[in-house]
Amino acid sequence: MGGTFDPIHHGHLVAASEVADRFDLDEVIFVPTGRPWQKNDRSVSPPEDRYLMTVVATASNPRFSVSRVDIDRGKPTYTVDTLRDLARQHPGDELYFITGADALGSILGWQDWQELFGLARFVGVSRPGYELEADHLADYLARLPRDVLTLVEIPALAISSTECRRRSGEGRPVWYLVPDGVVQYISKRNLYRSAGAAERDTV
Ligand code: ATP
Ligand code: MG
Repeated sequence: MGGTFDPIHHGHLVAASEVADRFDLDEVIFVPTGRPWQKNDRSVSPPEDRYLMTVVATASNPRFSVSRVDIDRGKPTYTVDTLRDLARQHPGDELYFITGADALGSILGWQDWQELFGLARFVGVSRPGYELEADHLADYLARLPRDVLTLVEIPALAISSTECRRRSGEGRPVWYLVPDGVVQYISKRNLYRSAGAAERDTV
């Protein structure tokens, strides 16, 4: 499961847990992005902070782990590179790429589908506020081979990292939106102190 994870929140964790259960996965690997090209309009927290929050959030689940492949590549993340690296590190394993309904379109829209689908099966999970079977995907979905992309309904958690950053910046609580250790990490590193003000200014 790739993401900026700035910060990781319970929406990410529920998605991973549900898909792992549904597809009987041995492991879910969270892969924090390098500096993402999609988010050039705001400053993303340092990769090490996003990596450590992801480690803190996943540490208690024996089936969850975190990979540094995208961070260590040191350039903007393309899903195809992520999957190539993971395939190399896990030869013979069947890979699944978990993504939310909002990110599905951009991941599939930008890159070579043939190659992506050769590397992994894709699982698109529901997310409040985003249509899972958006019109622009319907045509593509109809033409795809079976099993390359599965859409899955998961328990709806209307949580986003953007909202967590805004709340932190405004001094409002993020308890119960993100794991306790992540609340403490954000405050220890003062991560989003001015985020609320900055994002309000750009509206
Ligand atoms: P931001 O607001 O900064 O974009 P985000 O909450 O969307 O953050 P990302 O790191 O961008 O989090 O998302 C990583 C992946 O998790 C994406 O595939 C995204 O669609 C999915 N995702 C994020 N939040 C949820 C949620 N509440 N329910 C289901 N999927 C989610
Ligand atoms: Mg997002």
